[in-house]
Amino acid sequence: MPYPKADLVLRGGPIFRSLESPMVDALAVWSGRVLAGGSAEDVAPLVGPDTKVVELRGRAAMPGFNDAHQHLLSLGRSMMQVNLRPGTVDTLDELLAAVEKCVDETPAGGWIFGGRYDHYYLDVKRHPLRGELDRVAPDNPVFIKRTCGHMGVANSRALAIAGIDETTPDPRGGHIEQSQGRLTGLLQERAQEMMLSIIPPEPVATLVDAVELAGNHMLSRGVTSVMDAAVGGVQGFDDYLAYQEARHSGRLPVRAYMAIYGGPTGIMDKCIANGIRTGAGDERLKVGPAKIFTDGSAGGRTAAMREPYLGPNVDNAPDRGIFLYSDDELDGLVGPYHEAGFQIAIHAIGDAAIDQALAAYERVLDRAPGAPSVDRRHRIEHCGYIVPEHIDIMVRRGIFPAPQPVFIRDFGDLYVEVLGEERSESCYPMRTWMQNGLHPAASTDAPVCGTSVMTNLYSMLTRKTARGVTLGEEQRLSLPEAVSAGSYNGAFLSFSEAVKGTLLPGQLADIAVASGDIFDAEPEEILQSEIDLTILEGDIAYDRLQEHDQS
Ligand SMILES: [Zn+2]
Repeated sequence: MPYPKADLVLRGGPIFRSLESPMVDALAVWSGRVLAGGSAEDVAPLVGPDTKVVELRGRAAMPGFNDAHQHLLSLGRSMMQVNLRPGTVDTLDELLAAVEKCVDETPAGGWIFGGRYDHYYLDVKRHPLRGELDRVAPDNPVFIKRTCGHMGVANSRALAIAGIDETTPDPRGGHIEQSQGRLTGLLQERAQEMMLSIIPPEPVATLVDAVELAGNHMLSRGVTSVMDAAVGGVQGFDDYLAYQEARHSGRLPVRAYMAIYGGPTGIMDKCIANGIRTGAGDERLKVGPAKIFTDGSAGGRTAAMREPYLGPNVDNAPDRGIFLYSDDELDGLVGPYHEAGFQIAIHAIGDAAIDQALAAYERVLDRAPGAPSVDRRHRIEHCGYIVPEHIDIMVRRGIFPAPQPVFIRDFGDLYVEVLGEERSESCYPMRTWMQNGLHPAASTDAPVCGTSVMTNLYSMLTRKTARGVTLGEEQRLSLPEAVSAGSYNGAFLSFSEAVKGTLLPGQLADIAVASGDIFDAEPEEILQSEIDLTILEGDIAYDRLQEHDQS
């Protein structure tokens, strides 16, 4: 049989294939897979009359990125909702003006939801207050979320509809904030459920639109695979149906690994009853782990810490964050999910939450080590404030972190303020994890942070906060390590490293091409770089090479 000619050849730029392999300057793709890599001369015989040749002109190519913890569906929805993000909205007045504009465009009584404001970057350095929202939205219920999604502020109309007043007790795992005996409107962690449960649902078709919108956006970022870290967290089982519908109607632009939202308000019981298990599906859409939240966010002072947060809080009592579950309650989730055959992904940011998560994993692994498979790759999502003894347990038990290096840039200054320098310096220890073979899957948690892979790479290279403070210099990575953390590690944490995550022969031809040679650039230049071309399974899925070659 004659050797096949390539469908696609990339040449004329540095091509990073994997951490262990040398760079090449040409790559051939056939039938959606990498056929060969080498010098231009090596690959030349594979170029036939029907081969599409892409001239890189010095641009660097690498495996398509795997945003191993983000929220594609929420990202798409946030792209359709009021935008209160830093950069768009920098003062309280601007925030209120944006909500007011939204009120004008929404029918009387209609909900205003979303936002993703960050109080730390507002001029007032605090959350908006219920009364301020009432001024611009007296008749429409409003619930705007902080960027982390772990808390939000409601106006009086929304609180009234939800039946929340000054006498409502804190729900388990949540906090309804009051100041001087009055509701501020801030609802933290599980207190949000009281609000979310009354917001009218969207049709599944709208959720499919959101998946498609966000998926196309990710392709423009060089991201070819994502894990949606809480399928079921937006609108219950509709989320799952929306992904299936997107997949079957050709409207799922990227590969998606679905973490199924577990816990009392999740959809895990329904999934288990329906025979849904980790690994079901195909390389485009696959069932991922069961997701369990155990604490909140460090910047929002709800991550569960061994030692208290610094500085005053509204209650003026030492706070160590919030545990969403008791140890027994957590065992009551981890046990059944593990035994049903699910990989498990526990959200744990604070050191005390990581203590709790690892202890729960150890108990279930001792009790049911092989049920039903040994290689479980249970995960800790974020895994921010980890201490050395945690690393030992993770190595011994095969438990892996899914961190967001970009948190250091976006939230690092706030971390120093609320947790002090020492704890902040040792957060998200990428180098220690890499050295210990723990495959930290660098991800963005979008829409918590922005979707740029370049910002994430920059954070891994520099560990610089927005103000330029370096946190934990010794944990910086080289660019090849950082790229591998953003591609291969995500494939590993989703059991797909045999088919994606590198550009070695036989792997899926999922490829990202940067706007320049980022392997020979200063971090600041990388931060300014973009993506010029994205290839998914050998097909060009995003292309602005021409635009750039002309300019
Ligand atoms: Zn998340």
